[in-house]
Amino acid sequence: MYVVGLTGGIASGKTTISEMFQALGAAIIDTDTISRRLLEPGQKGFAKVVEKFGNGILLDTGEIDRRRLRHLVFNDNKLKIWLESILHPLIFESCRQEIDCVKNSNYVLLVVPLLFESGFTALVDRVLAVDCSRNVQLNRLTNRDKIDIDLAEKMIAQQLSNEERINLADDIINNNGEEAELSARVQHLHQQYSLKGKTEIA
Ligand code: ATP
Repeated sequence: MYVVGLTGGIASGKTTISEMFQALGAAIIDTDTISRRLLEPGQKGFAKVVEKFGNGILLDTGEIDRRRLRHLVFNDNKLKIWLESILHPLIFESCRQEIDCVKNSNYVLLVVPLLFESGFTALVDRVLAVDCSRNVQLNRLTNRDKIDIDLAEKMIAQQLSNEERINLADDIINNNGEEAELSARVQHLHQQYSLKGKTEIA
């Protein structure tokens, strides 16, 4: 299966863009969805997190308080490294299995925020990076997640910069403007990837 990795900084627009590819018929595997699933009660990541942080990390419902967990790890780099060391191998394996199950699409779009930082390049044939300026990113992040600018800046600082990511990517999609401006570029890339995927199958 031909695999395109879609990456970009936090709140750069990966989900927005992947939904546009999906509407055109692309198969999507989203590592955020996989990560959320791994932290659900009974899943592999859940027990490890509760063991590390205690029951105080749980909501009344018995689920992990993901908002609190995020606050903790983005304010303590050691905790962040610990959580990633637990989750990334599990996510990687789930991705491999899901890629093997994809049918009815010439390619799969694998959405991975830390694609370069976490070695997920091993799973992809090509990388598409979202180009989004730091100011736009900060605005979207603080508005969407209702967090203060300090935490938002810390989150952004812990990832590759926009420039570094763009330099490493094969294709770029600019998301500094209106959502409507994305559609022509998404259609063009979808055609290219479908063709490459088809050629690979043939
Ligand atoms: P995360 O890294 O947290 O998973 P993401 O990269 O998937 O985020 P989105 O959730 O798609 O980013 O977008 C972040 C926010 O910015 C959302 O509220 C989304 O609706 C908004 N957004 C994305 N693209 C645009 C755009 N072109 N114009 C206006 N708002 C946008």
